[in-house]
Order: sequence, then structure tokens, then C-alpha cells
Amino acid sequence: MSRIGFTTTIPIEILFAAGRIPVDLNNVFITHPQKKALVEETELEGFPRNICGWIKGIYAVAMRSDLDEVIGVTQGDCSNTQALMETLQLKGMRIFPFAYPYDRDEELLHLQIKKMMEHFGVVEADVGSVKMRLDTIRQRLTLIDQLTWQADTVSGFENHYFLVSASDMKGDFEAFQEEVEDFLKEVKGRKRSNPEIRLGYVGVPPIYDDLYSFIEELNARVVFNETQRQFSMPYRTTTLLQQYLKYTYPYDIFSRIKDIREEVQRRRIDGLIHYVQSFCFRQIEDLILRYKVDLPILTLEGDKPASLDARTKVRIESFIELLKGKKGGNSSP
Ligand code: SF4
Repeated sequence: MSRIGFTTTIPIEILFAAGRIPVDLNNVFITHPQKKALVEETELEGFPRNICGWIKGIYAVAMRSDLDEVIGVTQGDCSNTQALMETLQLKGMRIFPFAYPYDRDEELLHLQIKKMMEHFGVVEADVGSVKMRLDTIRQRLTLIDQLTWQADTVSGFENHYFLVSASDMKGDFEAFQEEVEDFLKEVKGRKRSNPEIRLGYVGVPPIYDDLYSFIEELNARVVFNETQRQFSMPYRTTTLLQQYLKYTYPYDIFSRIKDIREEVQRRRIDGLIHYVQSFCFRQIEDLILRYKVDLPILTLEGDKPASLDARTKVRIESFIELLKGKKGGNSSP
């Protein structure tokens, strides 16, 4: 079966219906045992130092992942994608562009989906039946998410891992479904953890290895992973078009903020961690987030894949102490 790489969430229902294996290059990169070396090798090939680590990692794994084609999301994800695609093309990779219209225009998105279906040779009925199968998995992922913030039996990292994996269902949705079911069985026997501080994680997934475990050592827990939850598409929709219109990540920041505010309230969140990547245009969104969300926010910036450095650990500790103080009626850090 041919393997199709992609740079951010696209309608994987079309790829599965076409008998292709979807490969989210972000997931391949971040779980790669030599991820740091891969970024450095890409720099040696000539990628500038001041380009985001994810782009370099995606390029490196795209070149090593035995792919037949790469779908590049040229609008709605990353300002660097076009040049990344051109570099891959230079190395002989076949590229298919996909674009989310900024203004969430229904007709334009419909055309993009139609074009992708034609490219992979599938019709609506095939895609519709795959959607129904994936929807059942998406509902189980929503249950994992609920167990994170309602029952407090799923850790922040486990939540991140399962929701982020929905972007390609690890290339085999039946095996992924089994993994999800096994996890849900295991969770049934767990006791409630009652973390003292409930955090939301906002922004692109972290390049750090140990962010979630470090937070849990401080008796705090991430009970909301914004982007990862969006990748899991926790909506009830009847068509693919509706599903990808509800998805907030590729459109304007304001619909993301609406979703963040609703979840902050629903999940009784004490503070937000906004993760930004060095050299990413999305860093600018930090000021909009701070303007629109009335909650303590800690902005963390990561560069290359690594464990948390001492300075970042101290900043997280101080932030959590501040939140504990606020909860206990003492507003000083
Ligand atoms: S972190 Fe920012 S710059 Fe890097 S790939 Fe993602 S959107 Fe692009």
C-alpha cells in the first residue's frame, strides 16, 4: 500500500478510502529516536538556523519515510510550508497541495475536498463509509478526553498522545482502535487523581519530551490539550465538509479562542500554558490570546527537541506556585 505523508491534519478519510496509508510527518518526527540529530542534519543540508525545528524535522523524516507523495497544507497551517514543499520537490518528491480557506468559505473548502478525492480516485460514498468508521473512534477519543477532565483518571500526556495520534490514526485505524479500547479498559480500574492545579495547554504540540510529566510532579495536570483535541475532531457531523469546517486550527485565531474560552470554563482550568515554537509566526498570536483570555498564561518557547532546561523548569514551577497561591487566597507568587 502506498504511503502518503502530510504536514498537518488533512481529511484522512479520503486517504483511507483510497487504500493509502496516511503518515503525519509531525508524529513521525517527534517520536523518532534521533529527532535532535535529524534537525541538525537538515541544518547541515542548508536549512537556515532561524527556521522552526518542526519544519527541519518534517523535511528529514519525509526524506526517510518511503513515501509516494506528500500533501502540503499551503494555507491554514504554516507560513513555511510552501518552501518546504519546494525543497522536497527538488529532491524528487511528488507533492499535492491542499489549502484551508482562511475565511472558512464552505464552497472553497468543498472544492479542495473534491479535488483531493479526484486526485486519489475515490467517490463520496466510499469516503462517507470510512468517515462513519473513524467517527466511532473519534467518539472513543472524546471519552478519553472526558476521563481526563471529568474523572481525572487519564494523565495530561496520555490525553495528548491519543488525541494527537488521531491526525493519522497511526496509519492503521483498526489497530489504533484496538489500542484505544485496551487503554479504556485499563483506565477503568484507576483511582481519581485530584490534581491541585488544572492547566490548559494551548498552541502547537510541544517539542519537549518531558513537559507533561514535569507538570504532574508538581501536583498539577494538563486537563485540556487545545490543538490535539482539535486533531481528534470531537464533533458530531454528518458530512466530511461539516467536519472540516468545524475544525478550528487552520482558520482564524478567533474561533480557536472561542473554543479555548468555552473549554476553560467547562473544565475549571486555573491557568494556561501557551507553547510557542522558536521562529514560528504563531508567536504573534500570543498577544491576541492574552488580550482575549482572562486567565493567568505562561508562554513557553521551545526550539530543538530536548528535555526541559533548568530555566523553563523554574518558570513552570513559579507559575504553578502562583496558581496554588491564588487558589489558596494568596495572590503573591
Ligand atoms: S511550529 Fe510554526 S513554524 Fe513550525 S511548523 Fe508549526 S506552524 Fe510552522
